[in-house]
Amino acid sequence: MKYYLLVLGCQMNLSDSERIKSIFNSMGFSETQEEKDAQILGVVACSVRQKAIDKVFNRIHKWNQQKKTKNLLTFLTGCILEDDKKKFLKLFDLVFQTKEMAALPEMIGQYGVVTPASLKNQLQQIPQETQGDFWQINPEYQSKYEAYIPIQNGCNKFCTYCAVPYTRGREESRPSGEILDEFDSLMSRGFHNVTLLGQNVNSYGLDKKGTELTFPHLLEQLALRAEQQKQKPWIYFTSPHPRDMTDEVIEVMAKYPSLAKQIHLPLQSGDDKILGDMNRSHNLQDYRRIVETIRKKLPQATLFTDIIVGFPGEEEEHFMNSLRAMEEFEYNMAFIACYSPRPGAKSSRWEDTVSQQIKKERLHRLTEVLMKTSGQWNQRQIGRETQMLVTGPSRKGDRINGRTEGMVNIQIPMDQHLQAGDRISVEITGAMGLSLEAVKK
Ligand code: SF4
Repeated sequence: MKYYLLVLGCQMNLSDSERIKSIFNSMGFSETQEEKDAQILGVVACSVRQKAIDKVFNRIHKWNQQKKTKNLLTFLTGCILEDDKKKFLKLFDLVFQTKEMAALPEMIGQYGVVTPASLKNQLQQIPQETQGDFWQINPEYQSKYEAYIPIQNGCNKFCTYCAVPYTRGREESRPSGEILDEFDSLMSRGFHNVTLLGQNVNSYGLDKKGTELTFPHLLEQLALRAEQQKQKPWIYFTSPHPRDMTDEVIEVMAKYPSLAKQIHLPLQSGDDKILGDMNRSHNLQDYRRIVETIRKKLPQATLFTDIIVGFPGEEEEHFMNSLRAMEEFEYNMAFIACYSPRPGAKSSRWEDTVSQQIKKERLHRLTEVLMKTSGQWNQRQIGRETQMLVTGPSRKGDRINGRTEGMVNIQIPMDQHLQAGDRISVEITGAMGLSLEAVKK
């Protein structure tokens, strides 16, 4: 039996899908990239994004049409609002939260429209470990050299534009023993890059104060293990919240070479009024103090951010504060989004006051600042030697693509001997807005 999985959303959804694949594979099913060949069709989606919702509706209507001529089982999981669950259940055979995933084999057995005898037999042969807790499911990693390790689920911050606390629930930290075990297993298989994943990764452990490691202690434990490895891995984390970005986290990062010198610190807005309306629980000065500490203790670190333009009530003067903040913090990368109301989020009940055209103009203006600051940083790297993780040949096949430790895209001339996952030394020879040119040393 074959399954097809459509993943729409962020790294968290991608990580969820790796665990779903593992469950199906352990049931003896195999993945197909062709919808037409599959008997089980699933979507892992972020149902709070309208674009994703539209895609989900398109797909399920098509699949339900196909059900007239063949037996199919359809399911939906990911970040789903409770209110949406009932609506989607009319269209999908199964709709479940990711934390219910471990019970997927039972759900298929009980509710699936496709429950041939052969499937029931397979269900009886499912190893017990796939029935357990979601985190204990061994994922089917997408890559042979880089992997996500979920360390926490849910969020307590309630930013007004976001529905995650309603779709994934409150913050829950994964036991550190499990995280360290998953890390050890990745290391023994030669993985080069590991990214710790969570909605609010640096508030790790706060829900289990006194009984669990704090985030900097977890980083330290992982770094101590990483330093023993031949492949000298890079450890990343995403996304931290400025409120929980303590000096201790930055100090631990400075101490261990294996903690990659790249920080993604969402700013969202450079204006205190807008930050207040977003319920971000920090102001620009708090954020500035963190960046100053990063620059002092991690001078080589690259800095990434997320920014929303056109949040309800954002006037030109508020936007200008975001623009000035972007100039001041000199980001290497910024994920700039035009505000759109997310169903379930508090701000979706507010008037969307900024026109689409102004949002686009603001996005364009911030992108220009990003290209300038990132380009200047890249220029300063020319002549330096650095490590590059090879990710594969370019689309045209004439270059080799990769990333630096700071997650900056880098290219070298074609080299047939290199393959994805190799780590090589290169000398930087050129710089563009968001990427670097180099030659192999
Ligand atoms: S945007 Fe805010 S509410 Fe949403 S996951 Fe991040 S910290 Fe939590």
